[in-house]
Amino acid sequence: MGFDAHIDAGAIRQVRGAAAALVPGLTNAEIVETWMGFRPQSADGFPVIGPSPVEGLIVATGYFTKGLDLAPVTAELVADPVCDDRLDPLVRRFGPDRFA
Ligand SMILES: Cc1cc2nc3c(=O)[nH]c(=O)nc-3n(C[C@H](O)[C@H](O)[C@H](O)COP(=O)(O)OP(=O)(O)OC[C@H]3O[C@@H](n4cnc5c(N)ncnc54)[C@H](O)[C@@H]3O)c2cc1C
Repeated sequence: MGFDAHIDAGAIRQVRGAAAALVPGLTNAEIVETWMGFRPQSADGFPVIGPSPVEGLIVATGYFTKGLDLAPVTAELVADPVCDDRLDPLVRRFGPDRFA
């Protein structure tokens, strides 16, 4: 939670152990690089998708752990207002205005 960007040695051990269980040849593999990323989440836990109060700015964010899985459907939903000035009714309940 929050903006703590430190890299957790325990988590690295856990991932490494899981990888080695699947692929035993990785047991002694050298760790060349470590990396962390944030998983931003909205206040109600659902993505924020749709036109913002700034004209021409359409947002698609707050996906927490599902941003990759939901990228294709998000691209379609966001293309509607960008290309056709149309908004899928599904998007209305995810709009940024729900926090107004
Ligand atoms: C370790 C990890 C594992 C994950 N696994 C999965 C998974 O298996 N399946 C899944 O669906 N999702 C997964 N996710 C979540 C997924 O990565 C995110 O939901 C998704 O990347 C969010 O996309 P985004 O475009 O909203 O934000 P991001 O991908 O974070 O993109 C935001 C971009 O904005 C840039 N940026 C930030 N601030 C500024 C600024 N001031 N100026 C200019 N640029 C800026 C950043 O550098 C970044 O490139 C995982 C996340 C993490 C961290």
